[in-house]
Amino acid sequence: MADKRPRIVIVGAGFGGLKAAQLLAGTQAEITIVDRENFHLFQPLLYQVSTSELAENEIACPIRAFFRKNHNVEFLMAQAQGFAPERRVLLTNHGEVPYDYLILAAGATTNFFGLQSVEKHAYGMKTLQEAIAIRNHVLHMFERANKCADEAERRRMLTFVCVGGGPTGIESAGALSELVYGVMSQEFHKLDFAEVSVKLFEAMDKVLTMMPPPLQAEAIRVLSGERCVDVRLNTQVMDYDGADLKLKDGSVIPTRTVIWAAGVKAVPLLAKLGTAVDRSGRVVVGPTLQIQEYPEIFALGDCASFVQDGRPLATIAPVATQQAAVCAANIKKLLCGDTQLLSFRYKDVGSMATICRGHAVVAMGSWQMKGFFAWVAWMVVHLMRLAGVYTNITVALKWFWNLVSGIRLGRIITNIKEK
Ligand SMILES: Cc1cc2nc3c(=O)[nH]c(=O)nc-3n(C[C@H](O)[C@H](O)[C@H](O)COP(=O)(O)OP(=O)(O)OC[C@H]3O[C@@H](n4cnc5c(N)ncnc54)[C@H](O)[C@@H]3O)c2cc1C
Repeated sequence: MADKRPRIVIVGAGFGGLKAAQLLAGTQAEITIVDRENFHLFQPLLYQVSTSELAENEIACPIRAFFRKNHNVEFLMAQAQGFAPERRVLLTNHGEVPYDYLILAAGATTNFFGLQSVEKHAYGMKTLQEAIAIRNHVLHMFERANKCADEAERRRMLTFVCVGGGPTGIESAGALSELVYGVMSQEFHKLDFAEVSVKLFEAMDKVLTMMPPPLQAEAIRVLSGERCVDVRLNTQVMDYDGADLKLKDGSVIPTRTVIWAAGVKAVPLLAKLGTAVDRSGRVVVGPTLQIQEYPEIFALGDCASFVQDGRPLATIAPVATQQAAVCAANIKKLLCGDTQLLSFRYKDVGSMATICRGHAVVAMGSWQMKGFFAWVAWMVVHLMRLAGVYTNITVALKWFWNLVSGIRLGRIITNIKEK
């Protein structure tokens, strides 16, 4: 006899999709999670993989591992490519996946703002593969510079530029500076570290725009002071050919490393639905997180455009997880024939960013904190959100050992063709 159980398909097992699947796993529905990767990724710590502090399996966890006990949850490793909404079918590179309810939780991708040369030569910081590529490249630059007799080329290899003054840019610049001046300077005995520089460029006149001005100033003070990062505001990148970075004011920075953390936009998949999208390509959802034309389709997190108090919500993890809870609750109601659905309202949980080892900034409503205790708070929150006890223990140990000794043993170069 054919299975009459309702089919719920979730595209994306990031923060939002995973939470929705966990909340729906207890229903009688058949749930299929579709993701192009076989792992859930903890994106806020990507920069620690790129700077050799954590290993990849400490911030990524196999999706199937979350649903060992849920026999009604199936995982399909596939790339979602389009929709046939009139037939209620998701199109993937591994065939059609029929659904009764569809949750779009496919996240976002790096926004290079149309700068094609930058997109070609700079490193994005959005996927695990990109973080590993940055790690390989940065470590390799030191090995190459160590063998290079040409001073100009050596300086180019030893100049590291992060673009974007949001949490990712700040955290990457701080962690890179620690790697360079705290670890590499102890081990590369022949290199002159006056030739090394870490730079942070931001197009606006401030960093960490979601933080109050005193915490923005604190981030700049710590980075440019004790961490020796060259922080430049009102500095816009125009072009990059892999060797020279051109700025809007006409100046040129010779560098082999540009890490682009300047913004995100929606994944291209969403445009295939043909419904309304916002300026970043995020699909517009109503108060119940449904798409107006197709009420059986929900969208959440970075790929949904939800306006609250006149402004679209930010692309941050708590928005995705809070929306996942409302999506799951609404689908449960629909499964029971209840059409009185919940409306979503984001509850602000504040924001935090770490500047370097032992130093962070935290803002929650009117409450602000900076320095060591803010860093401890940042550490506890991130440890609680990481998947699994094993990871909690290894990451906590690594952070503690890194705090007291500064050692980073993740400095392993893989996948470099030219040695
Ligand atoms: C470097 C970095 C640092 C960050 N730091 C913070 C932070 O400190 N605090 C914070 O709150 N937020 C932070 N964020 C933002 C936060 O990670 C996102 O807001 C959050 O991940 C959004 O969750 P989501 O479920 O919408 O999408 P995601 O978590 O991005 O998950 C999307 C999933 O969809 C999959 N997918 C995408 N396209 C397809 C497709 N076509 N087919 C199949 N699968 C697909 C992806 O593989 C992925 O698993 C950071 C983001 C980055 C990149």
